[in-house]
Amino acid sequence: MHLGNYLGAVRNWVDLQEDHDCTYCVVDLHALTTAPNPKHLRANTLATTAILLAAGINHNSSTLFVQSAVAEHAELAWMMECTVGFGELRRMTQFKDKSDRSDFISAGLFTYPALQAADILLYDTDLVPVGDDQRQHVELCRDIAERFNHRYGETLIVPTHVIPKAGARVMDLQNPSDKMSKSLDSPGTIGIVEDPSSVARKIKRAVTDSDNEVRYDPVVKPGVSNLLGILAAATHRTPEAVASDYSIYGPLKLDTADAVNELLAPIRQQYQELIAEPAHIESLLAKGAEKARVVASATLQRARERAGLLTRVLS
Ligand code: AMP
Repeated sequence: MHLGNYLGAVRNWVDLQEDHDCTYCVVDLHALTTAPNPKHLRANTLATTAILLAAGINHNSSTLFVQSAVAEHAELAWMMECTVGFGELRRMTQFKDKSDRSDFISAGLFTYPALQAADILLYDTDLVPVGDDQRQHVELCRDIAERFNHRYGETLIVPTHVIPKAGARVMDLQNPSDKMSKSLDSPGTIGIVEDPSSVARKIKRAVTDSDNEVRYDPVVKPGVSNLLGILAAATHRTPEAVASDYSIYGPLKLDTADAVNELLAPIRQQYQELIAEPAHIESLLAKGAEKARVVASATLQRARERAGLLTRVLS
């Protein structure tokens, strides 16, 4: 996971636990859309879980599990695929971006938003806390739920998204017109548990522009504005207020690197302790899956019944 995931989503997930009943899921079935190496998938599933725990997801008060451990996701996803239109899926900008960058485009990459709708709808979800890039998918999820309810009667709760004001779109440090994404070895991406010296180096080398004027203007000055946005999100200020403290780029980069490292230091430390005990992480995930199944199976049963699938023949 990278700094964009943290500022745009994970930090918000941690805060929401205070007064909401939260369900968080490591989406390993989604990861299969790009055919990852199995060893890497296993390691990354554990690492992602460890990062979430280290960042403050509470496995007791919230439900934290791995998607593939709750088979209901795959089954409801099929029903969602039969509810969403081909044209709707084709309009998803993430599919266009990802398929432009891949040699092999799996059918799963195309139908991914239907599985994501199942992930959300299985838990009678009211609120979906995401970064700005997921707005379109959550809107599609609402449309799918409404269509299903219209066809079969009220069955699924129609959710809304919650998008944070600061940090909702962290951009790549080298190509600030693209969002920061998962290629952690890229100089434009900062990993949540990346070494502090590497974080500082990447921020120091971030692309800016030649006029050396610090001003928040994402269209004209995307690189500088991205650094201001990151520093603002890390220090709970607005990018405009942060901009007024600087007249040249050097000190802005130094302070951004320090603020990011300060923000991530406790997460890194916790992560190192957790990742040293993979069996412990697995046992927490097994308990989480048990809790998740209780809710997921009830929703799936309801959807099966409404859609006309025989339910008394289930053993
Ligand atoms: P994903 O990268 O698709 O696994 O995203 C996990 C969460 O992080 C989602 O809620 C995304 O909206 C959010 N997210 C991903 N990339 C960024 C980014 N560059 N800036 C802000 N939020 C992001």
